[in-house]
Amino acid sequence: MLTIKNLSKTYANGVHALRGIDLTVSPGLFGLLGPNGAGKSSLMRTLATLQAADTGSVQLDDIDVLNDKDAVRRVLGYLPQDFGLYPRVDPETLLDHLADLKGIDNPRERAESVERLLRLTNLWDVRKQKLGTFSGGMRQRFGIAQALLGNPRLIIVDEPTTGLDPEERRRFLNLLARIGEQAVVILSTHLVADVRELCSSMAMINRGQVLVQGSPNGLLSKLEGRVWRKQVDADELEALGDDALVLSTHLNAGRTVARVESPVCPGPGFLPAEPNLEDVYFSTLKH
Ligand code: ADP
Repeated sequence: MLTIKNLSKTYANGVHALRGIDLTVSPGLFGLLGPNGAGKSSLMRTLATLQAADTGSVQLDDIDVLNDKDAVRRVLGYLPQDFGLYPRVDPETLLDHLADLKGIDNPRERAESVERLLRLTNLWDVRKQKLGTFSGGMRQRFGIAQALLGNPRLIIVDEPTTGLDPEERRRFLNLLARIGEQAVVILSTHLVADVRELCSSMAMINRGQVLVQGSPNGLLSKLEGRVWRKQVDADELEALGDDALVLSTHLNAGRTVARVESPVCPGPGFLPAEPNLEDVYFSTLKH
């Protein structure tokens, strides 16, 4: 269990990146959802002991995360947003080297870990290929392999699906789902779909604050009966009453379709719609 209390951080340039974050995260896959600039990476880097906080406390079971960095690092797996690789090295060699740095001293044990992780991430067949030739998805899978060295109890993956094509993304998310069983796994993302498909528990953050925390289904149920949709003209939306909140508009075959939150039908021609996580996201951000 990871418990974050009143965590704040202001950068030297005056940006309040974290403003009193409170979160409780149980083992399993936890989605941290927020737009760009929300403070996700700042939070991830703090949990990964790479930067200090100004106030607050973080406890991972018996470990005081902010004050006992060595203890955290022994049980941490981290896949940062910008993950550099040595292009001329193959994944087997690099993973073996990283395992060595992680303190897996016994060569046989190290070889076993490396093989297990390369197989888990589906990179065994390309283990002799140079990392410089890898696609975005292969690089991210390698990133997960290195994050899993030494059986971490806290796994942090920061915006891992950015730039992946749909098939690579799917493969990567399936892999995350499989490792999220024993450890606390925090997945930060600005993509609602990543969270909906994978996470049993989630939080939305914006401007350094937690807006909501809960299960995707629990959050969805709050919007039950309150979402309406209609194909509209732009001026029609401006004419809506005060009770109605436009959640989003998108184009469908060249026509604008609006999704509106309202306790009652917001106007003629609106149809009830099944709430989705995107609605929760916009409803939370806009309220
Ligand atoms: P996210 O990961 O959600 O996009 P970040 O944590 O990267 O958000 O950024 C939160 C805010 O802090 C942004 O306004 C960003 O510009 C600012 N920020 C992030 N890192 C630094 C830094 N090292 N120095 C100053 N400002 C920063």
